[in-house]
Amino acid sequence: MRLKDKVALITGAASGIGKEIAEAYAAEGAKVCIADLKLDAGQAAADGIVKAGGTAMAVEMDVTDEAAVNAGVAAMVDAYGGVDILISNAGIQHISPLIDLEFDAWKKLLAIHLDGAFLTSKACMRVMKESGNGGSVIMMGSAHSKVASALKAPYVTAKHGLLGLARVIAVEGAAYGVRSNVICPGFVRTPLVEKQIPEQARDLGITEEQVVRDVMLKDTVDGEFSTVNDIAETAVFLAAFPTNALTGQSVVVSHGWFME
Ligand code: NAD
Repeated sequence: MRLKDKVALITGAASGIGKEIAEAYAAEGAKVCIADLKLDAGQAAADGIVKAGGTAMAVEMDVTDEAAVNAGVAAMVDAYGGVDILISNAGIQHISPLIDLEFDAWKKLLAIHLDGAFLTSKACMRVMKESGNGGSVIMMGSAHSKVASALKAPYVTAKHGLLGLARVIAVEGAAYGVRSNVICPGFVRTPLVEKQIPEQARDLGITEEQVVRDVMLKDTVDGEFSTVNDIAETAVFLAAFPTNALTGQSVVVSHGWFME
């Protein structure tokens, strides 16, 4: 058990990548707190973990709402006594050419990815500092933290921004044992990706098959999607790493789409 008795807050963990990380962490012995927009969806994910023999709870949290973030972190600390790992994972996608992009859509996406990462990091790092035990802050970046694609101006901007935030956390957090790293997945078939396949087909004037083959997987070495399991394994590795040597880094998990 690589994460025995560690407490992990995972945002956006009612679905997709976050849900898989929550399950993998629980299987490694962590107590996980699932934070998502709707309590019933988060609770269903937590119930699944408990049924499988793990320890999990759910909190309702909009990561853009400071009061909700602080209340959710407080509820987790009350229940589990602290926090050792934050996975800032909640996210959305918005497909649009920049010149047609509504300002509100730009602001909403940046708020979820960047304000959410800031607010949850701030709340968890305070607890980590106070405990004297430090911790691990992991941001869910993207291959789009490294490269650009058409139709994704706010997403690419936000995912690049997370690299900067993680590096600042690495520098400031070192004084009290907090390290910070970024996972950068290539395309993974979650609801976030399924939704954008027809949207990209519409905006690019191509078929959905062409979106998958010629846009999403075009630059991979083998034409394959990454999986939720690939990302969860990376999240376990980063959180379980035994020293602060690995901090301020980003790990691209993309079938070679982007190579460092
Ligand atoms: P998903 O849609 O399956 O899950 C996202 C979750 O975030 C949902 O449960 C949703 O309710 C939650 N969420 C959205 N807004 C929220 C908010 N304001 N507060 C709290 N929760 C909120 O998507 P996913 O593919 O699992 O994405 C998870 C993360 O991985 C995102 O940050 C995404 O950008 C990133 N990512 C995904 C891929 C991919 O190909 N799927 C690739 C690279 C990075």
